[in-house]
Amino acid sequence: GGALDARFVVGWLTRAAESVDREADRLTELDSAIGDADHGSNLRRGFAAVRDTLERDRTDTPGAALMLAGRQLVSTVGGASGPLYGTLLRRTGKTLGDARSVTVGQLADALRAGVDAVAQLGGAAEGDKTMLDALYPALGALAAAAEKPTGEAFTAARTAAEEGALATVPLRARKGRASYLGERSEGHQDPGATSSALLVAALAETAEA
Ligand code: ADP
Ligand code: MG
Ligand code: MG
Repeated sequence: GGALDARFVVGWLTRAAESVDREADRLTELDSAIGDADHGSNLRRGFAAVRDTLERDRTDTPGAALMLAGRQLVSTVGGASGPLYGTLLRRTGKTLGDARSVTVGQLADALRAGVDAVAQLGGAAEGDKTMLDALYPALGALAAAAEKPTGEAFTAARTAAEEGALATVPLRARKGRASYLGERSEGHQDPGATSSALLVAALAETAEA
């Protein structure tokens, strides 16, 4: 538990880096079915760089930590997911401004601005079989549980993200590389929705630590 401060954000992104590293092969396997088999290696490289940067450059606020991490993702991940996740973190951080610590409700609002920016950048909506299919359900659950104890609120978001990722299986991809496959994209879980669920799970683990 505790305050959502810079230390919390650094803890979250460090856990996210560990989780992405552990699950990289599975993410790449999912991307080999409906993409170009690089999602795991893209994110492993990106989040390792994020972890190193956050360790080296001390940040005083959650906003600054998120913006730094987002810039790092954009510059180290070549695929679609780099600019998209980079935008998520940068916009979320920018929205938090220079507060030294924030509430769950404030973080939920900032994350919504971040996810909306991802939707705008990628021209995608919920149901297009992308990362948004995990992120929007997570946001809805987080906002609904914002008044509950912190661990409970983030755990609700984690469950919703995992369910959202699973629910991409029957969908037909309408954005990104997977959309080139048309109906052959059906029956496979979206790699980006899967990595988004890992990021939300890392958030819940950090809140419970
Ligand atoms: P690339 O497709 O360039 O190889 P990655 O494999 O790292 O990039 O990431 C693929 C993931 O990015 C997809 O599974 C999907 O979730 C997400 N994605 C791709 N295009 C879009 C988009 N336009 N909007 C939202 N998410 C997208
Ligand atoms: Mg790929
Ligand atoms: Mg690629």
